[in-house]
Amino acid sequence: MNAKTKQRVFAPDERQDYGEDPTAVRQSSKYTSEYVRGFVDKWDELIDWEQRAKSEGRFFIDVLKARGKTSVLDVATGTGFHSVQLLKAGFDVFSADGSAEMLAKAFKNGVDNDVVLKTVHADWRWLNRDVHGKFDAVICLGNSFTHLFDEADRRRALAEFYAVLKHDGILILDQRNYDTILDDGFSTKHKFYYCGDKVSAEPVHVDEGLARFEYTFPDGSKHNLNMFPLRKDYTRGLLRDAGFQQIHSYGDFQEEGEEKNPDFFIHVAEKS
Ligand code: SAM
Repeated sequence: MNAKTKQRVFAPDERQDYGEDPTAVRQSSKYTSEYVRGFVDKWDELIDWEQRAKSEGRFFIDVLKARGKTSVLDVATGTGFHSVQLLKAGFDVFSADGSAEMLAKAFKNGVDNDVVLKTVHADWRWLNRDVHGKFDAVICLGNSFTHLFDEADRRRALAEFYAVLKHDGILILDQRNYDTILDDGFSTKHKFYYCGDKVSAEPVHVDEGLARFEYTFPDGSKHNLNMFPLRKDYTRGLLRDAGFQQIHSYGDFQEEGEEKNPDFFIHVAEKS
């Protein structure tokens, strides 16, 4: 290769691969190869944890404390933000994720924040095979549940979350407000920003079975995520079908109804 044709060489774990037709990639197991190291590292460099902590405030801590919950299973640990926050607030936290890449990063982030994460490598669909014990609460945050493309997988994952909870346990699960994206389209060029204007996240393809987002970083590099666009009432229905008795949905950390067009919904589902 001469100097003219020389291109940047990516390490294998740095590159995402959606094949020739990225919008045809709609598989629940795709997530492990979407969170490649280059994406994970870049994301975490830019998402300022302090900023995120400020915007979420004490919301999750208050929800858990108000119900007297102390043991928490974080099933979508990612890079560890919520696990670390909750450990620091005195909760007993177990941190699970189906991506080994994510768990390694989370453990390191824990050490950098003076806590030691108890990590478990587990896919939600067979969670109880790898996670033993019962918890007061399961948290599935950061728009993670959207990674499941088959309804059977969604139902199975919720059954697994339900089973790992104590008789009066709660599940806290959040999701992007896909209703707005599906119903109003993205021709409005509505952009969702994380952490100020450092990373822009924009839907580049949306239909009832797929929301493909493109994340653009300050250096111009782009990564994608293919996600299933969960409608709010559909998610609530799945939670009800899984056996949860009470479901309270918040919009952008506000009480139901207070926030008219939130970017995120947070469902708090109670077993009893
Ligand atoms: N909760 C973190 C946050 O808010 O920063 C991470 C969110 S990240 C968008 C989604 C996480 O869910 C990833 O770490 C991914 O590996 C995990 N995940 C997706 N599907 C999964 C599955 N079927 N089983 C276990 N983990 C899964």
